[in-house]
Amino acid sequence: MLLSRLSINLKLLLLCAVPLLLLIIFLSREGNNLYEIQKNSYQTKVIVEFGLQLDNIAHNHAIERGLTAGFLGSAGTYGKDKLFKQREKSDRAVDDLNTFIETHQSDLKYINAEANADSLIDLLKQKPIVRNKVDQLTNDYTAFNYYTSVNKTAIDKIDLLTTFIEDQTLDTIDMLSTFNEDNTLRGELLSLVEMIWLKERAGQSRGALNEVFSKGASSVHVYTSIFTFTKDFSSTLEKLINNRRFHAKPTLIELSRKSFFNEIDLIQNNFLKQSDRLNNIQGPTSEQWFTLATQRIDAINSIISEQTSYTLNEALQIHAQSQRYLMLGGIMMLALISALIFLSYYIARNISSRIKNIDMLLTRSINDNDLSVKMDIHGNDEVTHIAKGINSYISWLKDVVGNIKATSLEHEYSASHDGLTKIANRNLFISRLTLLIDQLYRHDRHHALMYIDLDFFKKINDQYGHAIGDQVLKIFADRLVAQIRKFDTAARLGGDEFAVILEEITSDQAQLVAKKILKEMQKPLVIDGTKINITISIGITFFSKDESQDPTALLNQADHALYDAKKSGRKQYRCFDKALKKQFEENARLESDLEVAIANEEISPHFQPQYCLSTQRIVGLEALARWHHPQKGFVPPDKFIPLAEKLSLISLLTTSIMRQSCTSLLSFMDIKPNLKIAINISGSECSNLHIYHLTQLLIEENKIRPEQIELEITESVLVDHPESSIGILTALHDSGVSIAIDDFGTGYSSLSYLTSLPIDILKIDMSFVQGIGVDPQQEIIIKIIIDLAKQLSLKVIAEGIETQEQEDFLVENGCDYGQGYFYSKPCSAQDIKKLLELDHR
Ligand code: C2E
Ligand code: CA
Ligand code: CA
Repeated sequence: MLLSRLSINLKLLLLCAVPLLLLIIFLSREGNNLYEIQKNSYQTKVIVEFGLQLDNIAHNHAIERGLTAGFLGSAGTYGKDKLFKQREKSDRAVDDLNTFIETHQSDLKYINAEANADSLIDLLKQKPIVRNKVDQLTNDYTAFNYYTSVNKTAIDKIDLLTTFIEDQTLDTIDMLSTFNEDNTLRGELLSLVEMIWLKERAGQSRGALNEVFSKGASSVHVYTSIFTFTKDFSSTLEKLINNRRFHAKPTLIELSRKSFFNEIDLIQNNFLKQSDRLNNIQGPTSEQWFTLATQRIDAINSIISEQTSYTLNEALQIHAQSQRYLMLGGIMMLALISALIFLSYYIARNISSRIKNIDMLLTRSINDNDLSVKMDIHGNDEVTHIAKGINSYISWLKDVVGNIKATSLEHEYSASHDGLTKIANRNLFISRLTLLIDQLYRHDRHHALMYIDLDFFKKINDQYGHAIGDQVLKIFADRLVAQIRKFDTAARLGGDEFAVILEEITSDQAQLVAKKILKEMQKPLVIDGTKINITISIGITFFSKDESQDPTALLNQADHALYDAKKSGRKQYRCFDKALKKQFEENARLESDLEVAIANEEISPHFQPQYCLSTQRIVGLEALARWHHPQKGFVPPDKFIPLAEKLSLISLLTTSIMRQSCTSLLSFMDIKPNLKIAINISGSECSNLHIYHLTQLLIEENKIRPEQIELEITESVLVDHPESSIGILTALHDSGVSIAIDDFGTGYSSLSYLTSLPIDILKIDMSFVQGIGVDPQQEIIIKIIIDLAKQLSLKVIAEGIETQEQEDFLVENGCDYGQGYFYSKPCSAQDIKKLLELDHR
């Protein structure tokens, strides 16, 4: 847990540097100690063995010297065999030392014992010369002396060597002290060396005493030797007996109580006391003495071997123990290194698995487009920091993507919905319609498309303002949506035009829906306390597998049905049935021919004369467009005028008709110079300056007077384009052109415009004229219109006069002018000329 909070660097530092440091400390302290102890204990063993080798040499030479003395003393061959065998033993002891030095050369070098041992061996190699001399001079005491001196020198050397070994021993033991604080081994080893030394002193003392006894007389030199030996022997013995760490101490104490041991001391002490009376000394025979002294040496020898085996054993134990510790240390070290490897592997695996997790998470989030993924975070190291960073990056990305999605949804919504009514817009409507049409190939279904138009919406806008107009559209949309099913699509196509897709519906059901909508819209709307009545017209078309269409064609069909509904008096629905279809297809064909027809002047004006009712003379002509289609023959204006409006060809058509009319007028003016020509203008043109320029141009080109031109506009112009039209109509009127209101009384506009617009003539609609003598109410309306015109100083013309009765009524009521089949049908320029000529007469 704690480790996971540390940085990777710190982890690695802890992992590598700290254990390495520990390792170094451990190695430099314990390992080195153990190694030293192990080495020292081994050296102790070598020293002990080396000491024993020296002791063996000294021992054998002491025996050889004794035997030589005996052999010399007998002055014969007595004891010769024994002596020669002993000589071999002595030589073997030297050889053994040689072998030992060779085997342990390196260890002996370390304690610097090899050089000393070499000089000892060199000395011992001189023995054959001495021995030969001894053999030659068996009866000569000088030979013995000579031999003894050599022997003594050798013993002195051994002595020195023993001291040297003692020093080395002390050094070695000092080193051992770190391991064994009681210095047991040190004490034991020292005691052993001292025992060896004691034995040498015992041997030398035996030699010296033996010399005295065998010669029967002594020199100062011998006494000095005996004195020194005795003194050294006693002090060393005492030291050993008092040494509390000496293993063989009990045996030595026991030995010191033995009679032969004390007897020798006694002899020596006595001998020394009587030094001034040397020649009178009484004592044991040489042989007795020798036996006694040898017994003592042998006893010491056994103590030495006891001590040796003990010391050696101790050294071996320490050696083995330190070796065990070293091995244990090694194992610990191996364990530690293994733990380190495992731990570093664990950390590496931990880090790599966490990085792998991060990688997996990122891959998942990319592949699955899933930004809700989050990593579990524990600890505080670098990987955790990366994970934290990635977590916050992903959540940031999530926010950004969320925002982008929300914005794009908003965009998508506003791109596909109408801002005012919140229902689908044209784009969405078309795409749904396209989808349904595409699906018709797979599913044999029957759908309906409705085109809805608010009747006289312009009027509402003008009357109540655009804010209320918007409210009307909103309420209409809400009511519309309420009347259709959830999966049907209602859309605002623009302005006051709406459309609905009714999915999987029969034509009867669709008509029921249309009726429901019409009924619902009859309920008056109350906006800001104002009660507003609206009516709508609906065109319906159907589409299925058998008659699948493209969206535009379907909309055109529904629009065509809507047009028919409007034409039939509005507030109703029309289905795109067979008759309409036929008409529609015909229109479609006409549409494709219309532009060419206008350009080729296939459409030309016919003229219907207008009479002054009081004089019964022609005063003007109304130009009515006629299409002489090369294949279809005569096409009435009711058919192609709406098409020209729809295809924006109306301006071209008006220009053509006006041009032709003016040309004809020029020819008519020869007969009747003041003749007027009345030209029908579509509503859309009244708001276009083009009509003004065209009129002025034609007047100028044809040199006709402006008063000869009259423009007929319908009331609906004033409903649909009131403001923009006023300026243009005023300009025209100001230039001298007169303005007539066609179909007066059928429109829905207020009469207030009559005072604000530059109007010259009111044209009583044919429907009223046809009511004369049939419908008294129609007659009243005619009277009112005529009266109104008089009041406003306007002229009145009645159209569609077919009978004498009608004419009479109109004349009676003061109507100024009249036109109709009663006088003449619209006819060609040629026929009109004839009429004019007749009229002129
Ligand atoms: P409108 O301006 O109301 O024209 C009068 C229509 O009544 C004409 O039909 C005319 O032939 C017809 N008519 C005249 N006297 C009688 C009658 O005694 N009895 C009956 N039953 N009908 C009579 P037309 O020529 O078919 O024109 C239809 C409409 O087409 C016109 O109605 C006019 O609105 C429009 N129109 C004709 N020519 C043009 C044109 O050049 N430009 C424009 N914009 N519209 C035109
Ligand atoms: Ca007219
Ligand atoms: Ca008319």
